[in-house]
Amino acid sequence: MNSNNSFLLSIEDLTVSFDGFKAVDALNLFIEKDELRVIIGPNGAGKTTVLDMICGKTQPTTGSIKFKNSELVGLPEHQIVRRGVGRKFQTPSIYENLTVFENLEVSYPKGHSVMGCVAFRRTKEVVDRIHEMAEEISLQDYPDIEGAFLSHGQKQWLEIGMLLMQEPELIMLDEPVAGMSPAEREQTAALIQRICKGRCIIVIDHDMEFVSRIAHKVTVLHLGKILAEGSMEEIQRNPKVIDVYLGH
Ligand code: ADP
Ligand code: MG
Repeated sequence: MNSNNSFLLSIEDLTVSFDGFKAVDALNLFIEKDELRVIIGPNGAGKTTVLDMICGKTQPTTGSIKFKNSELVGLPEHQIVRRGVGRKFQTPSIYENLTVFENLEVSYPKGHSVMGCVAFRRTKEVVDRIHEMAEEISLQDYPDIEGAFLSHGQKQWLEIGMLLMQEPELIMLDEPVAGMSPAEREQTAALIQRICKGRCIIVIDHDMEFVSRIAHKVTVLHLGKILAEGSMEEIQRNPKVIDVYLGH
């Protein structure tokens, strides 16, 4: 397949071996702008490893990852971030001793230093943007609350907000609703749908109700390979998928 296309992200023939074991095996994955793709599959299928390779944390053995038609493989992680790729890990990594406002503030691209909250000039533009973001992630009533005092779900939203401050064009979320209450899951689904516009989002999750609510298209990984790809309805009635994953 030619990489000269309309896809925002084009992954071709991506493979990584750990001591001879292929955790991801000749993977092809193409994602369009405005698309919300969900990757599902049994534990150990290689889902997290795919995200690790996109963000530069793990070097593939072979293959190509093109984002906006330029190659990411071989770039250091910070350059991949700078090109517009944002990744949220499974456990929230907010600053527990900074407030919601300050967490968003240090994530603002120009305020990006460890001492950002001290050295940073609070221009009106920045403050407005932070308040907008707090509203987007349903934390508009808690700007002065320290991270440590937020609920698990609120911490996850704050981390998504921190990612969004950098306006990434590709966002990767690894199990964003794990440990959330049903109400928080619903709010997270709505948030992810809102932020999808103008970019693409890859979500890994196991909660099929959540997946069916957000997915434009679902990719099922199994043993490092694609077992099936299509709409949620197609995936749910695919006998191979039922056999290795949904049936359990
Ligand atoms: P998933 O996220 O689908 O549960 P992972 O991508 O975490 O699966 O893991 C896929 C397989 O690759 C697993 O067997 C895991 O043990 C292995 N693996 C992942 N990262 C490494 C690594 N850095 N070194 C060795 N093996 C790894
Ligand atoms: Mg994983």
